[in-house]
Amino acid sequence: MQLYDTRRRRVAELEPLVRGQIAVYSCGPTVYGDAHIGNFRTYIFEDVLVRALRYLDFNVLRVMNVTDVGHLVSDADEGEDKLEIGARRDGITAWEVAKRYEQRFLNDFDALGLERPDRLVRATETIPAQIDLIQQLEKRGSTYRLADGIYFDASTFPAYAELGRLDLAGQQAGFRVHVVEGKRHPYDFALWKFSARNIKRDMEWESPWGMGFPGWHIECSAIVMQELGEEIDIHCGGVDHITVHHSNEIAQSETVTGKRLARHWCHTEFLLLDGGKMSKSLGNLYTLADLAARGIEPAAFKLFTYSAHYRSKQNFSWEAAEAAQKNLQRLRYLFTQGGTAVYTVDSLKRFDEALQADMNVPEALAVVWEVAQSDLSVESKQALARQIDRVFALDLLHQEIEDEIPSTVLAIANERNQAREAKQWLEADRLRLKVEAAGYYILDTPSGSKIRKQ
Ligand code: AMP
Ligand code: ZN
Repeated sequence: MQLYDTRRRRVAELEPLVRGQIAVYSCGPTVYGDAHIGNFRTYIFEDVLVRALRYLDFNVLRVMNVTDVGHLVSDADEGEDKLEIGARRDGITAWEVAKRYEQRFLNDFDALGLERPDRLVRATETIPAQIDLIQQLEKRGSTYRLADGIYFDASTFPAYAELGRLDLAGQQAGFRVHVVEGKRHPYDFALWKFSARNIKRDMEWESPWGMGFPGWHIECSAIVMQELGEEIDIHCGGVDHITVHHSNEIAQSETVTGKRLARHWCHTEFLLLDGGKMSKSLGNLYTLADLAARGIEPAAFKLFTYSAHYRSKQNFSWEAAEAAQKNLQRLRYLFTQGGTAVYTVDSLKRFDEALQADMNVPEALAVVWEVAQSDLSVESKQALARQIDRVFALDLLHQEIEDEIPSTVLAIANERNQAREAKQWLEADRLRLKVEAAGYYILDTPSGSKIRKQ
């Protein structure tokens, strides 16, 4: 399996740290408002990546965080916490904002048929681990105190510029000190912010430095370390994270461990709208609900995203979304029509190879169309569709009538649903494997889990 690494700027063989096992971390949503379809381009890609790895027989453990505190309006450690802004806007507490938008995010996630990460970890639930990490940075002389918080001194980490190919000297020359009074370098960043004296925050914690809340970046370093260890295989996120958030994560983690945080930094390019950036102020952000209002199914939006490589920008337009909706219907229809040919073991070889070549999803999708339009028998096509859906999760056999499923298999699948509801991901995974060992497999679709014969 070949995968690009942003840090080395090249495609490299994925060589798991532990044989056959891949630890994946993705930066999750900031839950102060609804996620837009650009965010979902990134989550859809991450889903396909994890599914492809599992399909290619890797054992994957995926962790994602939920940013429910500390993400400030500006990356320069200024402005208000986005959660507190959400609280004022919605007339509820920051805690309620976090709960509300996390739930809405997960509803969209499920509607898209994305596999939930094995562990979803809230920033607010890992405050002690974050404080501990800041203390370790303090011991190593990498922090300094200003009036409004504890800062990381990026000049103590020589590789700081590496991931983002940053021009540190150039930035230093143009540095305006007043951005944050006392900040030594433009790329220093807050680890811990103090609560303002005169304002009572909904979210604040005691710490060795005073009452306050963590800076945004420290949560990811702490969660990776706590859940996956000092080194992981793949770290994902959108390209906007390269120059600040991920550079900061590397600096924090590697200062403490002395090890490379991730083997592969995997960044998704932006989804653009009519050629430009989606932005709240321009009012051109679309959500899944906007798509639904125009008759675009979540699966059709996924199909749309599959037509571009994850490292290329992709342009969204309603014409393209409507075409994807038609294509999805056509694809599903083609899988109900067949000829006389029988598939061979090589039928999906090019599909597999495309995935192995730095997740060339558009190329893999071209193979899917070839299969759908081929002279293969319906049975053969459907057997292939089941394999394809393990990666693309398009519910290609939508019209298929459920096979007779033995009650023993149904019982295990039910147990798995309960385990998932209780967020016991490892147990759920174990039960899924049991279903597969019995000759069936589970398809998690927007309308619930379906069981199919292998
Ligand atoms: P946020 O909730 O702002 O932290 O963003 C969630 C994820 O979506 C991050 O990985 C971002 O990098 C990514 N993202 C934000 N905007 C876009 C976009 N227009 N296209 C693709 N990914 C995006
Ligand atoms: Zn992160």
